Amino acid sequence: MTSLPTSALLKQTVLAEYPQVEYGRGVYLYDDQGHQYLDGASGAMTASIGHGVAEVADAIRAQAATVAFTYRTQFTNAPAERLAARIAAHAPDDLDYAFFVNSGSEATEYAIRTAVGYWRERGLPAKTKVLSRAVSYHGMTMGALSMSGHDARRPDYGNLLHPFPVAPPAHAWRYAEAGETEAGYCSRTIAEFEAAVRAEDLDTIAAVIVEPIVGAAGGALVPPAGYLSALREMCDRLGILMIADEVITGFGRTGDWFACGSDDVVPDVLVFGKGVSGGYAAVAGALLRRHVVEAFAAGSGVAPFGHTFSGNPLGAATCLAVLDVLERDAVLENVRRRGRQLEAGLRQLAQAHPRMADVRGRGLLWGFEFTAEAGTTRAPDPARQTATAFTELCSRHGLIVYPAGIAPLNNAILITPPLTITESEIADLLDRLGRALEQME
Ligand code: PLP
Repeated sequence: MTSLPTSALLKQTVLAEYPQVEYGRGVYLYDDQGHQYLDGASGAMTASIGHGVAEVADAIRAQAATVAFTYRTQFTNAPAERLAARIAAHAPDDLDYAFFVNSGSEATEYAIRTAVGYWRERGLPAKTKVLSRAVSYHGMTMGALSMSGHDARRPDYGNLLHPFPVAPPAHAWRYAEAGETEAGYCSRTIAEFEAAVRAEDLDTIAAVIVEPIVGAAGGALVPPAGYLSALREMCDRLGILMIADEVITGFGRTGDWFACGSDDVVPDVLVFGKGVSGGYAAVAGALLRRHVVEAFAAGSGVAPFGHTFSGNPLGAATCLAVLDVLERDAVLENVRRRGRQLEAGLRQLAQAHPRMADVRGRGLLWGFEFTAEAGTTRAPDPARQTATAFTELCSRHGLIVYPAGIAPLNNAILITPPLTITESEIADLLDRLGRALEQME
């Protein structure tokens, strides 16, 4: 066995050696050996306005010098109040109430507490289960992981995890039956979702949680058209809340402020993270609809809460500076334009590399699958390491991509560059990706 160093920063793979980053500018990162990398993953779908943006650094410095931290039960603060209002203005319909936490996992946990609390306030305390889907990811804390249909990450924790029920995934390319239309597949998978809900005692179900487009667990799995609105209708009919996990899809990643908005769907709770701060601060949160907040106001008067750093001025001021960039520079328009360029380039590469299958996505959230052999359609590559090995190969070609999916179920790669990426930088990304693909075969 290789011996451990005396002391070290612990890595996910204990003995892994990563390049040491020195600095970042825009979509590029530089390590201490002088190598340049194009950040084609925004780290983990996070660095949405790119690296080293001076005006964000200035805003952080100014807020830190004014007041960095106050506690949420002692003071409110102007940056957090302004941030809540500006996010609500971009969110669909009456998702008008924001609470801030520090990570996507905490945000999905907050959604559990909100859903369970909502029903308790309404005199239905038995409604405590949150139904999620297979092939989904909602975070690594125990409640969030309990809701995650992520078979690679769950088994280690056994009965520490809550046994929430699970519904089927929505991915026509893999799960539609031969000859089934998209509409037919959508109806069938929604019917199966409802069957999973009904297999439980309805009086015990508080909510369902879905990612509008599945990210880390599947690699940009876009559901069939009409899926989210059918789910919304089902939740209303069965008396359960709908939680949308927009930790990846929120804040412009799909070309809209929120992916639910593109589908005209208003969840009861919308969870966000990552892009809200563009990686410049550890901030995430949730938006609640008016009727949800009214239940707490009319009941105990106490809304769900948590966390020392919730709504701290420094984090909020950071997010405001990131929002300024997103709004002022028409970044969402850039996402739609550059998304079309990226899609066209990926489809072209897939034609030249037949093991690269099912290019799918929206905006600047794209994924593709590695199949077992060239030309096979849906058979997943059974090698657990394919996506990880390809990610390492890309890194050697100066390109950061994100290995997604749950091998051996699927072996996917996510391409999710900063939303500010330019036309020539997309061309550079595709060029580096193409060179890595050439070497793979
Ligand atoms: N929800 C989704 C959809 C995610 O993709 C992630 C992280 O990748 C999380 C929640 C958890 O967020 P965090 O890693 O910030 O805790």
